[in-house]
Amino acid sequence: MSISEIYRPGKIGLSFELFPPKTAAGDRALFRHVEQLISFQPDFITCTYGAGGSTRAKTLEVIDQVKRQFGIAVASHLTCVGSTTQQLRAYLETARQRNIDYIVALRGDPPQGERLFRPVAGGFRYANELVEMIRNEFPEFSIAVAGYPEKHLEAPSKDVDLENLKRKVDAGAEVVITQLFYENDAFFEFRERYERMGIRVPLIPGILPITNLRQVERITSLCGATLPPDMVSALRSCDDEKEQLHVGIEQAIRQVQELIDVGVPGLHFYVLNKSSATGAVLQNVHLSSRSV
Ligand code: FAD
Repeated sequence: MSISEIYRPGKIGLSFELFPPKTAAGDRALFRHVEQLISFQPDFITCTYGAGGSTRAKTLEVIDQVKRQFGIAVASHLTCVGSTTQQLRAYLETARQRNIDYIVALRGDPPQGERLFRPVAGGFRYANELVEMIRNEFPEFSIAVAGYPEKHLEAPSKDVDLENLKRKVDAGAEVVITQLFYENDAFFEFRERYERMGIRVPLIPGILPITNLRQVERITSLCGATLPPDMVSALRSCDDEKEQLHVGIEQAIRQVQELIDVGVPGLHFYVLNKSSATGAVLQNVHLSSRSV
């Protein structure tokens, strides 16, 4: 099944994003959590690709194991950072041999400490170039790309950023998964502009349930997502992390339910290799249009 076929009327497509653990204990813990997450019958599971390709082998290992153990479709993220086009081709060739289903095609962030993204000699500058190469040379992969409801940090304006998103779709991306966000209004405004721009592929909101304030402040400062002030004060007034978790889950339930109610075609959860927060959200929303 191609990735776009997952998002069809009467059903909400569900996906979870993992990252490659750094230790054997992390591996074991991850698969215990994946087992829990599988009970929500996701349509596919993805694994991120570390900065500069640092996790290349591990990314494939994680999704390979998920696919073999649970028989579910998987996607590898792939970035252009630090790779020539030949190295990207070699990765895609390995992914093909391992029957990976989908690719989340990204440019990637500049290495830590650098402000600007610099392509390597013989590498790509933007994700649309990677999408084009995959479409032409690896047609068996469905492609998803990243979209930014609040604008990508480097983009000069929301309109320019959206034009650049359209380039990725025109190059062959079948689905857009968004950066995490907490203000649904920002997503609704983005979706309106997305549709006005004539982009027709499914737009899937990316959700990160808050489990503690310090962690989410760090993540949002890196990706430029806004933390609503009332949410920050609610989290600050908590006595401990357990209470913060409770507040974060309650917020995520409200956010996700509203997205379902307005008819989003799918949900992509940044699960951070854990199952409890995402599980608590999914148990408490009405995925009514989802036929499982
Ligand atoms: P692009 O689409 O190339 O955009 C980058 C910037 O360039 C934007 O400002 C855009 O407006 C501009 N631009 C794009 N195309 C053009 C063009 N043709 N001409 C001029 N300007 C252009 N990072 C990782 O390192 N590993 C991951 O696994 C990973 N997974 C992610 C998954 C999702 C769902 C999301 C939302 C993000 C993920 N990221 C990941 C982060 C991502 O790599 C960064 O946000 C990165 O800075 C931009 O990647 P992109 O693919 O959106 O880049």
